[in-house]
Amino acid sequence: VETSFARINEVDDEVQAFLTLNEEEAKKQAKELDEQLGTDASILYGAPIGIKDNIVTKGLRTTAASQILANLNDPLYDATVVEKLNAEKTVTIGKLNMDEFAMGSTNENSGYKKTRNPWNTDYVPGGSSGGSAAAVAAGEVFFSLGSDTGGSIRQPASFCGVVGLKPTYGLVSRFGLVAFASSLDQIGPITRTVEDNAHLLQAIVGHDKMDSTSANVEIPNYSDAFKQDVKGLRIAVPKEYLAEGVDKEVKEAVLQALKKYEELGATWEEVSLPHSKYAVAAYYLLSSSEASANLARFDGVRYGVRTEKRVDMLDMFKHSRAEGFGDEVKRRIMLGTFALSSGYYDAYYKKAQKVRTLIKNDFEKIFEDYDVIVGPTSPTTAYKIGEKIDDPLTMYVDDILTIPVNLAGVPGISVPCGLSSEGLPIGLQIIGKHFDESTVYRTAYAFE
Ligand code: GLN
Repeated sequence: VETSFARINEVDDEVQAFLTLNEEEAKKQAKELDEQLGTDASILYGAPIGIKDNIVTKGLRTTAASQILANLNDPLYDATVVEKLNAEKTVTIGKLNMDEFAMGSTNENSGYKKTRNPWNTDYVPGGSSGGSAAAVAAGEVFFSLGSDTGGSIRQPASFCGVVGLKPTYGLVSRFGLVAFASSLDQIGPITRTVEDNAHLLQAIVGHDKMDSTSANVEIPNYSDAFKQDVKGLRIAVPKEYLAEGVDKEVKEAVLQALKKYEELGATWEEVSLPHSKYAVAAYYLLSSSEASANLARFDGVRYGVRTEKRVDMLDMFKHSRAEGFGDEVKRRIMLGTFALSSGYYDAYYKKAQKVRTLIKNDFEKIFEDYDVIVGPTSPTTAYKIGEKIDDPLTMYVDDILTIPVNLAGVPGISVPCGLSSEGLPIGLQIIGKHFDESTVYRTAYAFE
């Protein structure tokens, strides 16, 4: 824990990964843990961890990087994942920067600061869990938690050269996660190694009666996955994942990875996810619709900072929201409200739901014959800070390789698979069947 804070002092002025530090409390906890250390200590005992700022931490400021939550200094409870980590005796170092309400791909939509990519600080760390990925990459914490609605764990992991897993929808409790799009959101681990990732996942999974979408499934021992090699593993590579729009260097790194899998005794074949071309459109309709409903609670009364400029009640709602939300959040609320409005529901929301089912079916069909799907995590390496900020549409389109995985609800991991000529990390994405994180880890570990 001391090393963690020393490193933060050394680099965080530049990296800007943290929104809130828990220094006094963390050091006190570490001291107590040193004194109590017994032989039965869990593998995560005393491990310094950072938490994305949309995951509620009791007594520790939680803002989801929004000015509208600037006054949430003393939350009353812990998210289920935080409770579970506390039971394993990890030490929370602080809260990590993100795009406001997890909407974005660069961390430039944070209402507080812009996190930078530790590999080259002229570049973004990715998003929305950019702080979580950057803090691990910069050695400020051993592990972190992120959340992934359309790629927000995997894409920043890819941009920062670390390992990030989006678990199967329902595997990890969302209780205490500030909701963005509830049918897509999942919390997951970001780490330096695949093994660490499995240990952290093991600690946070399990059925939770506080989350009605939490799955009641048997939990395997994820570390068992590392006892098996990949001989005979059947890999599917969707042709859409190596198509036009994917950088040449990214494509080459993925093909190199596939070659390595062949050498290790796995086989791969080209397949198709024919509906994935509709994924971005369906996702931005569905996620914005859900967001517009979820964010209705931030009105300056139930939640959120209340404006000073108030005349009557309606006025107070309007000004509180106008002042508290950033541009991207407003854009999504307007899009979602429009899509859900009377007369448009069938044309947009319902249609997008149908497309979602088609995408899910595409995955299921492939998994009848293959164990995993492999491709790039993102079509490109990290962008320069400021490069995409004025062009939200091209930024949305870049989520094309991660979004289908959320729509289908299956697990996906990003592991580093090389560097571009500019020296920026490239991520390999490995996608598995529902609740088959073990095979995802087995595939990722063999490559590492
Ligand atoms: N970039 C995507 C978006 O802005 C993904 C966000 C996420 O996964 N939270 O919606």
